[in-house]
Amino acid sequence: MLVFCAVRCSRSHKRIAKAVRLLDLSLIPPMIGNLIIIGSSIKEFSLIGCYIFFIGMDLVMAALVNFTAKYCKAFCKSHRKSFIMYILLGLDAAQMMLNPFFGHAFDLEATIVQDLPYYRLVPFYGQTIHRVVIYTVFFFVILVFIIASIKTARIYRERYSIILIVMALVGLWETFYIFSRTPVDRSMIGYGVFGILVYYISLIYRPLRLLDRILSNIASDMTEALYVFDPTGRCIWSNQPGLDLLDITEGELDEVNARLSGMFGKRPFTREDWKDNRILGHGDDALYYYLENHYVNADRKHLAGSYLMIRDNTEEQRRIKREIYNSTHDSLTGLFTKQHLYECIRNTLEEKTDDHYAAVFVDVKNFKIVNDIFSSAFGDIALQQIADWLRNNMAGKCLFGRIGGDTFGVFMSAEEFAADKEKIEKELLNFIVTDGNVEHRLLIHIGVYEVSDRSLDVSVMFDRAHLAISTISGNFKKHIAYYDQKLREKVLLDQRITAGLQKAINTMQIRPYLQPITNRSGKVVGAEALARWIHPEQGFMSPAMFIPILEKNGLIIEVDRHIWRCACKILASWKGTHDDLFISVNISPKDFYFIDIVSEITGLVKEYDISPQKLRIEITETVMMTDVEDKFRMLNELRRLGFIVEMDDFGSGYSSLNLLKEMPVDVLKIDMKFLSSSDSDKKAQTIIRNIIKLSEELNIVSLTEGVETQQQYSELSDMGCKLFQGYFFAKPLPTEEFESFAFVHSTIS
Ligand code: C2E
Ligand code: CA
Ligand code: CA
Repeated sequence: MLVFCAVRCSRSHKRIAKAVRLLDLSLIPPMIGNLIIIGSSIKEFSLIGCYIFFIGMDLVMAALVNFTAKYCKAFCKSHRKSFIMYILLGLDAAQMMLNPFFGHAFDLEATIVQDLPYYRLVPFYGQTIHRVVIYTVFFFVILVFIIASIKTARIYRERYSIILIVMALVGLWETFYIFSRTPVDRSMIGYGVFGILVYYISLIYRPLRLLDRILSNIASDMTEALYVFDPTGRCIWSNQPGLDLLDITEGELDEVNARLSGMFGKRPFTREDWKDNRILGHGDDALYYYLENHYVNADRKHLAGSYLMIRDNTEEQRRIKREIYNSTHDSLTGLFTKQHLYECIRNTLEEKTDDHYAAVFVDVKNFKIVNDIFSSAFGDIALQQIADWLRNNMAGKCLFGRIGGDTFGVFMSAEEFAADKEKIEKELLNFIVTDGNVEHRLLIHIGVYEVSDRSLDVSVMFDRAHLAISTISGNFKKHIAYYDQKLREKVLLDQRITAGLQKAINTMQIRPYLQPITNRSGKVVGAEALARWIHPEQGFMSPAMFIPILEKNGLIIEVDRHIWRCACKILASWKGTHDDLFISVNISPKDFYFIDIVSEITGLVKEYDISPQKLRIEITETVMMTDVEDKFRMLNELRRLGFIVEMDDFGSGYSSLNLLKEMPVDVLKIDMKFLSSSDSDKKAQTIIRNIIKLSEELNIVSLTEGVETQQQYSELSDMGCKLFQGYFFAKPLPTEEFESFAFVHSTIS
């Protein structure tokens, strides 16, 4: 049996297995020794048996120390102590082996037992030493096991106490043998039992009670409801959450099945494990449960029972729902977010491939002012009221959401929108938001793109709808505009102009034409440089076509810089031939925002080495409407540097005559709209006359633009106007043509 156990040990992966194997094997020699002693009738054999027994005992003790040190490791740090034990045992084995030479340990005397010859041990002091050593080690081991049994948790105690008790009994048995001096040592049976027991306890035995305890703790502590059923389906146990869920007590386990069916429907009775999600109730009050049922087999044929686990997922589900809601809805208005709206629209377009849709862009004009004048809290309320308006008018028939700060998107049937258009227009005419006493009329514009190209991305559809709004400006009765072919072409042209600009400048597709400016006697004194774009595809383009676009996106600076440079080049080339001529260049109001005009222009003049008086600066009166002080300072700086500053289109805007008194300008270019009506309108004539008179008094030179007829020319001359520009003299001309024109008209007096 011991050999069998030792072999089994060598197959085990447990750490203690080696020590157990050693112990089991070490128990064999004393038994063999004992058998030899019992069986022999010859003294020499008996002696050999004795040596095997005694030295085997040292070995057993050493193996026991080794096993104990490992088995009780957690409770007794016995490294040094075990080492001392090994030395003691080693020394003892040595002194026993010296007995044949010194005869100090024992001898054998012949005697008769039960009519058989038998050699009985006669112990000397060496044998006493041996016994002392063996008992010392034995008590040490016993002590370690006692400590371990006391210190360990109760549920683990049996692992130590069983070994301890058996070990003590075997020790007592052996002691009994020694002192009774009976010939046969029956305690060897105890050795064998002990060896097998150690093998079983340390390698095979698993304390079931312990596992039970731990598992039932886990089951009781679960937050999930757990029900255990016997093979007939009767509930035999439930944890507290399980009882709570069904609102029963521990004594009412028989109710479990009925209540479960009441809540979740009948449990399917297959012998297969199953899982299921159940929703109880509807809407916000719905409760979510996850059910999991498992069967436990006792053996191949028999069912041990089953258990059902129910988890209340309601909180988690609500959290997920909340998160989804938050990520898809705008927190201020509760409308869809842009991403979610677009996503829904994409799905709709995929699902309903036949319907005709309109993307509607709703934009609050001047919303920043609402925030500034009232408060951002009022702004929030305004946005919420717009959201409410959308909900009241649109809910059910379309998708809508908040696209940006003050913009909303609606996606609906194009026909339905067309049907509602008039009603909406009427409502927008007087869209008032209120917060207590505060009332404000919001200006809301709506752009519509009727989806003709479904392959477009939704964001592009709304971009187009947004773009349509740009055509509303000015008309205060109109709030809704459609994206149409005209707008599309305009956008395309915008794009083409913007994209081709840099190349056009570099290749001189854009170049200045010069329109002559004459004095009262018809002599050309200078010219205005006016940009022209000779486009390879578009053909000849007037600035009216491209300048507004470039002014919008700020690229006008590039054109202006280019024209200024060209003007300077021309002036430089005129040195010696047309020294008396000047060129006026236009400065867009936008330029003031983006560049330092003074340094830019002085730089050019220096670069081309021309006199500043030759390069005249035209600014429009709209420039003077903001930051007047700054502009005045800048114009004065230009004038101080020798440039001549002209006020362009005077009278077309809002500049007051008052401002004129302080305006740091040298020349007033009177807007041509006064002339177009001057034939019939006496009032316009009066205005022009007075402007001319006033400028004269202020020492400002007057120039009239748009002079088309001889009559206009002579009337203006009579009024005292100094300079003239207009088709009557010449249209804007290419440089060479201008040069020959100026040559011809330089002598007229
Ligand atoms: P503007 O500065 O008032 O230029 C005068 C405009 O009146 C020019 O139009 C010119 O061709 C036109 N014009 C001249 N005489 C007559 C006439 O007798 N009858 C009529 N009906 N029109 C006349 P253009 O060249 O088409 O320029 C339009 C506007 O574009 C300019 O108005 C100016 O504001 C802007 N512009 C032109 N070139 C430039 C430039 O290089 N830079 C900037 N920033 N603006 C420019
Ligand atoms: Ca001009
Ligand atoms: Ca002008």
